[in-house]
Amino acid sequence: MTDTIAALASGRPPAALAVIRLSGPAAFAAVQALAGRIPPPRRLSLCQLHAGDSLLDEALVAIFPGPTSASGEDLAEFHLHGGPAVISGVLTALTALPGIRLAEPGEYTRRAFANGRMDLAQVEGLADLVAAETASQRDQALALAGGALGRLADQWRERCLMVLAEAEAGLDFAEDEADVAERLDEAARHQLLALADELAALIADSSRAMRIRDGLTIAVTGPPNVGKSSLVNALSMRDAAIVTPIAGTTRDAIEVPIDLGGIAAVLIDTAGLRDTTDPIEAEGIARARARAATADLVISVASADSPHWPPAPESPPHLRLLNKSDLAQPELPPDALTVSAATGAGMGQLRDWLSTWAHTTTRPGEPALLAHARHRAAFADAESALRDAAHAPEPVLRAESLRAAAHAFGRIAGRVDVDDVLDRIFSRFCIGK
Ligand code: GDP
Repeated sequence: MTDTIAALASGRPPAALAVIRLSGPAAFAAVQALAGRIPPPRRLSLCQLHAGDSLLDEALVAIFPGPTSASGEDLAEFHLHGGPAVISGVLTALTALPGIRLAEPGEYTRRAFANGRMDLAQVEGLADLVAAETASQRDQALALAGGALGRLADQWRERCLMVLAEAEAGLDFAEDEADVAERLDEAARHQLLALADELAALIADSSRAMRIRDGLTIAVTGPPNVGKSSLVNALSMRDAAIVTPIAGTTRDAIEVPIDLGGIAAVLIDTAGLRDTTDPIEAEGIARARARAATADLVISVASADSPHWPPAPESPPHLRLLNKSDLAQPELPPDALTVSAATGAGMGQLRDWLSTWAHTTTRPGEPALLAHARHRAAFADAESALRDAAHAPEPVLRAESLRAAAHAFGRIAGRVDVDDVLDRIFSRFCIGK
């Protein structure tokens, strides 16, 4: 028989409230044991909870009968006062009952998936939602958790199966009516290439979704002492980077998360890019160069007392920024911004510029669903299978490639090939989720 699992589902105590969840066949018997009754389903009822003669808490209790509960099993929630002794008292009393043990991380969600309450893409969306720090990450995670990607993959799978049905019907023609078969063949080829192109566009757009989820990267580069660390601190409004008047003190790339008008970004304060004989500093500089080369944006900083920038490469995009405007006001190229990290002058404009850039780059209002490498890989496999199908020399091979494409879409929702990804996906959850 399945174990019944119990865990604290809310945050770290002490808090105003704590929620303990129970899922499995012994859940309602446990409610009966502690509360002395089983309250009506799907509403909160005030109950006194006892362990033997001692009162543990006065709590709100709700039961959700399976299979329509969140986990698909009988589920109960205790909404307790959020003190550590209350929580440990209730958990101890619960796990002393037969068939009840503490849950593993992600075990509730795993049961919800196993019982068909969620598909795999929804599980990933839920993990993203719990981790979301910005509004755009939350919106994207909610769309994923709501099943939007599973539905999209299912529609694509259906389209592949329809072409497959036609291809299989074509197999019967092939023997005696060669000209009909040939016309069907040409039509199918066109249809398949059109489908593959449509998929390629979706995949190309996935970097946008991934950036919303993982955050944009912005490398702050420039010679030593121009004020890179001071700028990173001023932008993030915290003292993450070490600021000193001694050149070459930032020896490694320091990464600081910032929120650009609802879009997550990471500022990378790079080590002063200069020639050096110090091996530790040289390593920092090498890392800084590598990181800057893959960043979504490079802020190239110069100081007002020496207003020169190195020539900007074609990519990634560059912003030329002149710091220390409080010291001097030199002539500037039209695309440069001027700030003073020391006085705060121009910082509002810099923030606005970055925010506009972040919105233009990620377009958070437009749906973008392929936020995970797993989703992108499945769609890419499907695209290449569709191209194989289009160029297949024989109807039998075409049918085989179409089956492979449908199979790739099945991986999104976890209908096929789930075993190798389950552990990786569920390891992102905390206990109680
Ligand atoms: P980094 O080496 O480029 O990271 O530069 P730091 O941020 O460590 O700054 C180097 C020095 O310049 C420090 O003494 C800062 O206080 C100073 N500094 C930074 N920004 C400004 C500014 O806007 N105006 C002035 N006057 N000094 C600044």
